[in-house]
Amino acid sequence: MKRYSMRANEKYQELIAGMDLTKPAPENEPFRQYYFIERAKNKLKEIEAEAGRKLTFNVITFGCQMNARDSEKLRGILEEIGYVRVETEEADLVIYNTCTVRDNANKKVYGRLGKLQSLKRQNPYMQIGLCGCMMQEEQVIEKMKKSYRFVNLIFGTHNIYKLAELVSRSLEQPDQMVIDIQQSADQVVEELPVDRKYSFKSGVNIMYGCNNFCTYCIVPYVRGREKSRTPEEILCEIRQIVSEGVVEVMLLGQNVNSYGKNLEKPVSFAELLVMIQEIEGLERIRFMTSHPKDLSPELIEVMAKYPKICPHQHLPLQSGSSRLLQKMNRHYDKESYLDLVDRIRAAVPDISLTTDIIVGFPGETEEDFLETMDVVEKVRYDSAFTFIYSKRTGTPAAAMEDQVPEDVIKDRFDRLLALVQKVGREQTARFTGQTKKVLVEQVNEQDPSLVTGRMDNNSVVHFPGDASLIGTLVDVHLDECHGFYYMGTAVR
Ligand code: SF4
Repeated sequence: MKRYSMRANEKYQELIAGMDLTKPAPENEPFRQYYFIERAKNKLKEIEAEAGRKLTFNVITFGCQMNARDSEKLRGILEEIGYVRVETEEADLVIYNTCTVRDNANKKVYGRLGKLQSLKRQNPYMQIGLCGCMMQEEQVIEKMKKSYRFVNLIFGTHNIYKLAELVSRSLEQPDQMVIDIQQSADQVVEELPVDRKYSFKSGVNIMYGCNNFCTYCIVPYVRGREKSRTPEEILCEIRQIVSEGVVEVMLLGQNVNSYGKNLEKPVSFAELLVMIQEIEGLERIRFMTSHPKDLSPELIEVMAKYPKICPHQHLPLQSGSSRLLQKMNRHYDKESYLDLVDRIRAAVPDISLTTDIIVGFPGETEEDFLETMDVVEKVRYDSAFTFIYSKRTGTPAAAMEDQVPEDVIKDRFDRLLALVQKVGREQTARFTGQTKKVLVEQVNEQDPSLVTGRMDNNSVVHFPGDASLIGTLVDVHLDECHGFYYMGTAVR
């Protein structure tokens, strides 16, 4: 756990030194949040004195890497306020950072809230918070107000930075339901505490939101319009975390290929990558998610030219049928996708390609499905996330005719999975016998005499070693491939 706390932040120390918490909070950010961190800190101490113990918290993340990154920010702020982190839901503050990309994600949250309510009945100091994509849906908020009055705090995806202010209000008015949902990100607030999961690698947001409106997707409605951070802010953050020991970054955005379009001085994603790879001490650069329609020849050139950019590209296909791709509003067809893959492979021969595929989109015929299978055969992905189409209220696809029967979807899903796994195993094994650099991530959970890490193409490798190797890049001979991972030996 690597925490960026405010103790090292001069601006913060200067400000709180002269701060009068009886006065109204400053308007401008991040100072406003610094004010509420201090106010919440004082209130928490009062409550802890009464409780005769430290209060604890747990942030539970549902969904994607964007949510995982937001949860690191939530944890950093709560630790700065003075809460102690625990891994159980029997905590004094439990926050669910929710996802809504599929219907069952919502059902999961409603299901688990019941258990939290019974825990709250046993703990007078317990508070419950909900944030993330699901909270950006109006009908969800109405349901919370009506049937989940025991929830204390509700906020969305655009005001994660505001947690200290919301917790301060919630601690001071424990019987009120604090709801703060913004329809769009009014600003990107930097320089707030963060608690990163790993000390040697980190996600870095480069942009928020999505303008693509694929017809099955709820993300543009809950994450808002694309908003890029400036290159200076991104470079500053990466230099900071590299100085704290990070050697690998994952650049995050719903569609990183359209980075920089809304900046005063537009900068392309390829240009940003060139700037980032110049940072001393940074060894590896990963990024997700790419949209095939915006993946430029310039980006392919940069991926081929700069070795720090990892030879792994996550390139969602969704469907191999040009007819369905049009109905999905994806703005590419089967031919242009395959042509793009050929150009990427020509420039970066050893690249690993992974993808997302939806089965059962409204109107999908057997012919459409066979087009998808054909692309999987032709592209030969190292792995693929395969999803059954999930109707999302408010998306155009939800209103489309010809919803595909469940048994048909199930049959197609099983056939696709079998093909993806067969091809994936064959593809993953192509480096057997070679020596590759592995970034060691942890001691192996099943066998403590082994450590586990990843090659630059993201393949998993286990080899004999101990915890002292964590966070280091080790040359490993790839002895055998076992499906989707390698067993190896460190080369001394
Ligand atoms: S690109 Fe499409 S699938 Fe991806 S987040 Fe945007 S709308 Fe959703």
